Amino acid sequence: KLFNELQDLKGNIRVFCRVRPFIPGQSGNKTIVDSIGDNGQLVISNPSKPGKEGNKTFKFNKVFGPTATQADVFSDIQPFIQSVVDGFNVCIFAYGQTGSGKTYTMTGPNNATEEEWGVNYRALNNLFKISQNRRTTIVYEVGVQMIEIYNDQVRDLLAAKAVPDASMHPVLSTSDVIDLIDIGFKNRTVSATAMNERSSRSHSIITVHVRGKDLKSANCLYGNLHLVDLAGSERVDRSEVTGDRLKEAQHINKSLSALGDVIFSLAQKGAHVPYRNSKLTQVLQSSLGGQAKTLMFVQLNPDAVSYTESLSTLKFAERVS
Ligand code: ADP
Ligand code: MG
Repeated sequence: KLFNELQDLKGNIRVFCRVRPFIPGQSGNKTIVDSIGDNGQLVISNPSKPGKEGNKTFKFNKVFGPTATQADVFSDIQPFIQSVVDGFNVCIFAYGQTGSGKTYTMTGPNNATEEEWGVNYRALNNLFKISQNRRTTIVYEVGVQMIEIYNDQVRDLLAAKAVPDASMHPVLSTSDVIDLIDIGFKNRTVSATAMNERSSRSHSIITVHVRGKDLKSANCLYGNLHLVDLAGSERVDRSEVTGDRLKEAQHINKSLSALGDVIFSLAQKGAHVPYRNSKLTQVLQSSLGGQAKTLMFVQLNPDAVSYTESLSTLKFAERVS
């Protein structure tokens, strides 16, 4: 049902918002969330304008509040995974400032239990399950690539040594995937920021290639899935950073606005889609536009202290949805 709806949407773009809960150290702080509606409506309040005057309303395809579990979130993603197995290209990405829960949504917390698994593991688990169920009619092969884009340069996170194209790794089970993703994340470029020492200043992209061979006709179908944990979207004050940090920040801003431009132009059904403006949009091109389905998670930290950043996150989302 979701996909019948999805086909009708301009450019097959859906936007989900997820507001994470307060975490230890934030308790007692004020929240920006005024209300969350079942219909995808989010009302946020301005901490410096008490009362309803400063309230702003945003509309998404769905809003997940602080109590939503990883399983709740995945139940709305599952139809996208079904699509991949049916031969569509899908891109799921998480956008938001550092500390807003992008990695939690996509991967889960450190040392996650199965219950805490994020989209990546659940997606692959589901993909294997569907392909198992079809094994008497279609035989599937699944391969995984994992890269990061740092300062507009692509780096393979799974190759033992530098190779021209990202290395492809055949996987047979969810545990193969977990092992690979672990290796990949250990290879990510991480640098400390004041907000979150685990924060990453690079985009990480897991690409899952699916090939299904119909046993009767010998025809093949191909689907791919991009799972993207974007670099933090926070605006960096030019007066506070210099050198490498400033260069990083400029690359991040440029690539995120290029992504926004691509999605915006797809949503407008624009004749020209500016894929070439950044490495990020070039890499994702096959799963943005055409028959592909795109799902963006807009991540929010509920803390009133982050109001300005949250507002700019919401404005980014408003432009593309
Ligand atoms: P980001 O990747 O955007 O920088 P993280 O995913 O690292 O943010 O989240 C920041 C912190 O908040 C982490 O400690 C993470 O475990 C926690 N967190 C994020 N989302 C949730 C959630 N939905 N439930 C519980 N804890 C969360
Ligand atoms: Mg992260």
